[in-house]
Amino acid sequence: PVQRLPEMQESRLKLPILSEEQSVMETINDNMVTIICGETGSGKTTQVPQFLYEAGYAHTNGIIAVTEPRRVAAISMSNRVAKELNLTEREVSYQIRYEGNVTPDTKIKFMTDGVLLKEVQKDFLLTKYSVVIIDEAHERSVYTDILIGLLSRIVPLRNKQGNRLKLIIMSATLRVEDFTENRRLFRIEPPVVKVDSRQFPVTIHFNKRTPLEDYLGEAFKKVCKIHRTLPEGGILVFVTGQQEVHTLCKKLRQTFPFEGKAEQKLKKSRRKKKESKTEILPKINLDNYSIEPVDEEAEREADDSDQEIEDNFMEGDDDVTSQLGEDLQTGGTTEPLYVLPLYSLLSKDKQSKVFDPPPKGCRLCVVATNVAETSLTIPDIKYVVDTGKVKTKFYDKVTGVSTFKITWTSKASGNQRAGRAGRTGPGHCYRLYSSAVYNDDFEKFSLAEIIRRPVDDLVLQMKYMNIDRIVNFPFPTPPDDEQVKAAETLLVSLGALTEPIKSVRMKDLKKTPITKITPLGKVMACFPVSPRYAKMLALGHQHDLLSYVVAIVAGLSVQEVFVEMQKPPDTDQEQDDFRSQIQYMSQVKKLWAGTGHSMLLGDLMVLLKAIGSAEYQGCTIEFCQKHGLRYKAMKEVRKLRAQLTNTVNMVIPDANICLDPKLKPPSDIQAKLIRQIILAGLADHVARRFPDPPPDADETLKKRKHAYQCTELDEPVFIHPFSVLYKQKPEFIVYQHIEETSKLYMKGISAIE
Ligand code: ADP
Ligand code: MG
Repeated sequence: PVQRLPEMQESRLKLPILSEEQSVMETINDNMVTIICGETGSGKTTQVPQFLYEAGYAHTNGIIAVTEPRRVAAISMSNRVAKELNLTEREVSYQIRYEGNVTPDTKIKFMTDGVLLKEVQKDFLLTKYSVVIIDEAHERSVYTDILIGLLSRIVPLRNKQGNRLKLIIMSATLRVEDFTENRRLFRIEPPVVKVDSRQFPVTIHFNKRTPLEDYLGEAFKKVCKIHRTLPEGGILVFVTGQQEVHTLCKKLRQTFPFEGKAEQKLKKSRRKKKESKTEILPKINLDNYSIEPVDEEAEREADDSDQEIEDNFMEGDDDVTSQLGEDLQTGGTTEPLYVLPLYSLLSKDKQSKVFDPPPKGCRLCVVATNVAETSLTIPDIKYVVDTGKVKTKFYDKVTGVSTFKITWTSKASGNQRAGRAGRTGPGHCYRLYSSAVYNDDFEKFSLAEIIRRPVDDLVLQMKYMNIDRIVNFPFPTPPDDEQVKAAETLLVSLGALTEPIKSVRMKDLKKTPITKITPLGKVMACFPVSPRYAKMLALGHQHDLLSYVVAIVAGLSVQEVFVEMQKPPDTDQEQDDFRSQIQYMSQVKKLWAGTGHSMLLGDLMVLLKAIGSAEYQGCTIEFCQKHGLRYKAMKEVRKLRAQLTNTVNMVIPDANICLDPKLKPPSDIQAKLIRQIILAGLADHVARRFPDPPPDADETLKKRKHAYQCTELDEPVFIHPFSVLYKQKPEFIVYQHIEETSKLYMKGISAIE
């Protein structure tokens, strides 16, 4: 029997879904598959697992699984549900890519969708579970989509065995036709339970005109205006990314200072950082990466308050990229505003701050990315400021070139955002775009992720499960043929799949030939990284190179290890800071690049040495800050390195590598061999420099100055200026990927002799 604390019970009773408990449970009991739709905040994620728990689902033939597309949600929801049930994390636990607290006593397990997909590969029938809840299905993340496809087959199989499994799909929008009307997916249309939300009216205010560029400045002005002129109530601002979150938070804090203790501490460490910026280059001993003594006091402070400095560091990133002109800093009210950032990569503690009531007499203002759209509900928001923008990674199906673009979001997500203002009372949503733009330029819905990204990793995982005819798989939204073909071609060239084989079975004779997984492919499928990198790991076994390859692959698999400045700064001071920072970083990089074959390994040697050095120093914030490394990313690299090391030892029996915190830099010969392994994973990512155009060359030829020709594209491509090989421009190079910003830039360069 569950013994909830009285205050928990009280807050639960306010949730709309609680009055629907009976109909929700009846539908689940009577059907194999149930879809539950309800507005964000109606209580789906926190309550449905509790309904199931109380109905005995975790006691009979398995435990309760809940998948989330985001790590943050998996962690914070497991904590919340444990609290509400008055149970410990031993019983209500979570598992994400690198960590978890699952025990043999676990009854409710929150996990990312990727984790459950891995489990399907080990135990196709998911026999551990009596019920699987796929949460946030409206987000249409790739793994969610695949899981739904797989579960549509697993559920009937389990039922046939008499060991029933229930599937529950939860969505924050009513748009579930992709699941209900797709007869290939579910032969019998699953019932949809709609949870009425107690939504208060939200008044929508469109801008008369749409600002073309400076939506962040516009958002700043709007928040100022709300705070100065409108009655109390929290403000939630939607921007597109972490950097924008910090830029805006900083401006708002400057304008409406909130002088708490934490704030003072922040300022102190901010001064510290300013000083450290102008310091001269430390001497790095290249034999063991050790670095000449660092400022001891600073180090102590780092130990003192990890979190505060981290925050400050993150903020520092924006110093030079601020889009907000100083002129916006008008005087007037200095009533405190309690400003909090919210984005997926933010630490658990910081994230949970938004659930706490703001300090007395302060107005809460949360500056958030898409996370706040549906995954997390922030209490007491009365005003929403919506830039209407979203940052999405686009990728060219044929060439694989990726771009991050900031575009208009969809009507559906615009309405979700507005809805955040009406949870606790009538609210207002300020859209920083005109109604004409909304009507004409906004798509109805956002696209499912699966048609926006390469599918080589998915195809490999599916082949590993012996799903050979990818086209026959019951995807909620199938990827298109071109995508699948590109993936198969790559996997065949990497040796993970066989050349297409014609089936010998009579009834299959007319079908197109299929590719099957090879023994190498099976090894590769065990690594939680892109197939190209998995290939490098599988090869790294030779010549004692595995530890290095593991470190490089871990670094390549985590985004933005180096702090990169994307935008030129606004003010002169920032310009100077920017220049000295860039200069300093390029010096460090040159040092790390070394000589001989190390230097030819280029950006990957820099990455390897950065990881090695950081690890040698115990991966401190201070070290990362000083050397242009993103502390958060480095921590992730560290976890991934540990995980890959374990996996390597498991799947390559005589590998026997250990996680060496004092990994010596590779020798010249080793560096050369590492380059060969890199090349094996990227054989199709080779580029050759165009000959220098003669002085009298025409326009087309002139464009080829310093340009490269690669196999995938007709247009000239360039080495990114942040590469250590930028000046050198070797004739033949191999690159990780091409990103389009002002030009087509190759990133992650190594030279080929
Ligand atoms: P849904 O999944 O339908 O969007 P949730 O179950 O996530 O809804 O949230 C229900 C309510 O629980 C929300 O009002 C939210 O404010 C509250 N809540 C969720 N997590 C926490 C938490 N960690 N601390 C306090 N309240 C929370
Ligand atoms: Mg939810």
